[in-house]
Amino acid sequence: MIPGLEPVPLRELQALGSVREWEFEGQLEELPSLTPVRGTIRAEHRGNILEVSGSAQTIVCLCCDRCLKHFNRELSTETNELIWLGDREAAAEMAEEGLDASSVDGLVECLDPRGLFEPERWVFEQLSLQMPAVNFCGDGCSGMPQSVNPELTASVTPSADPRWEALLSLRSDPGEESEVTRD
Ligand SMILES: [Zn+2]
Repeated sequence: MIPGLEPVPLRELQALGSVREWEFEGQLEELPSLTPVRGTIRAEHRGNILEVSGSAQTIVCLCCDRCLKHFNRELSTETNELIWLGDREAAAEMAEEGLDASSVDGLVECLDPRGLFEPERWVFEQLSLQMPAVNFCGDGCSGMPQSVNPELTASVTPSADPRWEALLSLRSDPGEESEVTRD
């Protein structure tokens, strides 16, 4: 829980009649990060619409899908969003407010006007959208770990190769070497 980002009733924002601002720093339970999530949110109740804008930054530790090593990635977001306060079906009213529910990216967020605005949830959603679909540590990636293939590993261990075995026995017991030469 990020201190100060408790859910706030939309009616409270409406009664405020002006922009509400949050400045925050803390850890998101659902998105563990190396550094605290820092940012700001502004929300303004405009009747049928809640305009929310804000920014947030943090650094997360991810596991590379190829080399399986951990690496750090900065997540940062800067968003401005209009949230429809009411019924999702009210397309005509949405259009009046400049929201197009039928547009390509017309996934209009909706909230029950009698419900809550959850600033922490909003930050979590914005940062989650910045998470890479594929975790790749970068150009310096060492690729697939060799130990994944047990046969490959076995061929380079001395005991598995007869030539190595001979060399090892020579090194460990020189007496045996003279016996071999006598034969
Ligand atoms: Zn990698």
